[in-house]
Formats: sequence, C-alpha cells, structure tokens
Amino acid sequence: MLPLSLIWNGHITPIAHPVASLFSVVFLVLLALTTALRAWLAWRQLRSVRAHRDAVPPAFAERIPLADHRKAAAYTEAKLRAGLIELGVDAGLLLLTFGGLLAGFDRFWHTLFPDGGHAYGLALFASVGLTGFLAGLPFALYRTFVIEARFGFNKTTPGLFVADLARQLLLTVLIGAPLLLAVLWLMAAMGERWWLWVWLAWLGFNLLVMLLYPTLIAPLFNKFTPLADGEIRTRVEALLARCGFASSGLFVMDGSKRSAHGNAYFTGFGRAKRIVFFDTLLDKLAPGEIEAVLAHELGHFKRRHLWKRIAVLGTVSLALLWLLGQLIDQPWFYAGLHAGTGGTAMALILFSLVLPVFAFPFAPLFSWLSRRHEFEADAYAARQSSAGELVAALVKLYRDNAATLTPDPLYSLFHDSHPPASERIGRLQAAG
Ligand SMILES: [Zn+2]
Repeated sequence: MLPLSLIWNGHITPIAHPVASLFSVVFLVLLALTTALRAWLAWRQLRSVRAHRDAVPPAFAERIPLADHRKAAAYTEAKLRAGLIELGVDAGLLLLTFGGLLAGFDRFWHTLFPDGGHAYGLALFASVGLTGFLAGLPFALYRTFVIEARFGFNKTTPGLFVADLARQLLLTVLIGAPLLLAVLWLMAAMGERWWLWVWLAWLGFNLLVMLLYPTLIAPLFNKFTPLADGEIRTRVEALLARCGFASSGLFVMDGSKRSAHGNAYFTGFGRAKRIVFFDTLLDKLAPGEIEAVLAHELGHFKRRHLWKRIAVLGTVSLALLWLLGQLIDQPWFYAGLHAGTGGTAMALILFSLVLPVFAFPFAPLFSWLSRRHEFEADAYAARQSSAGELVAALVKLYRDNAATLTPDPLYSLFHDSHPPASERIGRLQAAG
C-alpha cells in the first residue's frame, strides 16, 4: 500500500480527502451531541426548579420566605428559556459559519488583501468577531432590559449600555489588535515551535492584564472609593492583620450603577492586590457577615487558588496550542470545515470556534476543581471568622440575588463554579 502522503500529493485533491470528510462528520456529530446535552441539562434544571418551587428546602425554611423562593424559581426559569433559544441560535450560527460564511469572508478579504498578510488576518478576525457580537446582542439586550428588569435587578440605562459597548469595543481594538498581531507574527516567524512562543506571550499578556486590570481597566467602567472608616473597616482591618494579609487597599465599587446583584472580590496580585466590595453588598450585609465574606475571599488567596488556576489553565492552553501546531499544516482541517485556503489567522479562528464544541464534555472537571476551592475557602472563613456569619451572609445573597436553592445536580455539575447552596451551607453548619 502507498503511504497516505503519496496518494495525497499525487492523485487526490484536498477537498475530496477522506480525512477531511471524516473530520467534517465527527465535528457535526459532536456539535449535535453537545447541543443536545446542553438542552437536556437545561430541561433537567427547569424540571428540578419547577418541582421544588412550592416548598422552601427545610435548611432554608426559617430564613427564606416562600414568595422569595418562588421568585428565584421564576427568575431561573426565565434565564433558562432565553438560554435555550440562544443555544439554538449559536448552533445555527456555527453551521452557517462552516457552511459558507467563513469561506465567503475568506474570499472577500483575499480580494482586498491578495497577499494574505496581517491586514487580511485582522480583517478576518474582525468580521468573525463582529458576526458573533451581532448574534449575541439581542440576547444581551433581552437579559438586561427584559429579564433583569422584570425581576427588579436592572439598573443599567440604555445610555450606559451603549457607553459600555463603546468602551468594550475600544478596549478590544486597543488591546486585542496588537495582541493578535503579535500572535500572528510569532506564528509566522518562529518556525516549527511557534506554539511555545505564542504560549509564553499569551501567559505574559494574561499576567500583565491581571496586574493592570484593577488600576487601569476596571476604573473605566466603575468608580472605586476607599472603604470609609467605621465598624466595617475596623473589623476588616483586624481580620487582615489576623490573617497576615497586606493589600494596597479596600475599595467600594458602585455596582449599583448597573445591577442590584451584590458581590465582593479580590483582584490583582503582588503589591497591586486589592479587595473590592460592591456597594450593593455593603447595603445588604451586617458587619459580621461582611467580615465572613471577606474571610472567604482571603481563603482563596491563602490557599493560592489563583496560582493553581493559572497552572491548570496554563497547562491546558499549552496542550491546546501544541495541538493547533499539529493541525495548522493539515489540509483536512480547513477542508473539513469548508474554511477556504487556510493559513495562520484562519487556523486560529477555526480552532477558537471548534474548541468549545469539543471542550464542553470536560466542563465538570473544571467545576469540580472550582468547587474544591470554594469549600476550602469556606473552611478558611469558618476558622478565621465565623461559619455562622458566613451562612447568614450566603443565605441573604441567595435570597437577594434570587439564586435557585434546588438546582439539578447534573446541570449544576456542568455549569456552576460554586457548590449547590444546600451542600455549601450543610458543610459550613457542620464546621460551625
Ligand atoms: Zn469563592
């Protein structure tokens, strides 16, 4: 038998190659399967939330009124329904993309930039990105101005929505375009091992963003004011001293500008790290509860969860870039997805569009890791602050954010980075 490569070079055109057809079929089957899996999970979640909507789970019965529990069920259901429609639109868009849209973009930009250089690459990325953005826009509008508004969460005005979009677009162009150019350049200039160089650049870029985000990017969207003196500040500073945590500041963010949902987070690293409370959170929680929430965030820091995440994501992205390095010279990769002539920009686009389809079945792995971290942070908070106060804070947050207390376990395993409410509260109560 002749080696495949000889047949390839001698007699058969790339489009007709059996590997291309096989890849085409594998991709379509996987797209159908993951879309069906997502829809089935959403249906299970709907069923679970509906089945429990008329009774507050016993562990929460004293603290969450039935009316709030029903509101959480209706809110969850509204989001799931919109999500199901978006799922269909996304699958359709992917089919359309590989059914000729991408090849059309490819041809069009090749006529304008016949040498297929970096201008062609940028234009191809811009057209694919813009298509995805336009397809997602109606859903973003519906979520913000219909669902969030109906349940009393939305505070975003249409003017702010547009201003946010403009700021995001500007950031994408100012940061995304140079990054993309750097990646395309590395891919062209670094020979066979380009994927290693792209990985290093990507890692460096992410660390840089983490360093600059709190002071340069986040303030473009929100106002940050130092936490005022008072009982909260005193308690928080005592907690920080107790845990041996040095930070460059405690800030309050005007989250109420966009939404009534409350949160707290911890951002940056090294000396740039800061703790941020949403003003909506400070309004809702008592000082002891705020201290417990912060202790949970400090738990993430003390157990080095951020670095563990970076290590996992870094390893995964290195493996993926290596894989792309193997695919980039295979004609069947482009032919199988009807993606024109190929090249570095096209390979990157194909990979980023196809990857989520192949990656979704692995989602439980990442949520398992994330849940382990949440439990560890809860345990830290129980030791350094108070399990009881953290439970009280979490119950208030579940209630005020209309988060469901009765998720379907399987849906939750694929979609939720945090453990289900009952499991989390159960462990904390056992610890306290
Ligand atoms: Zn957490």
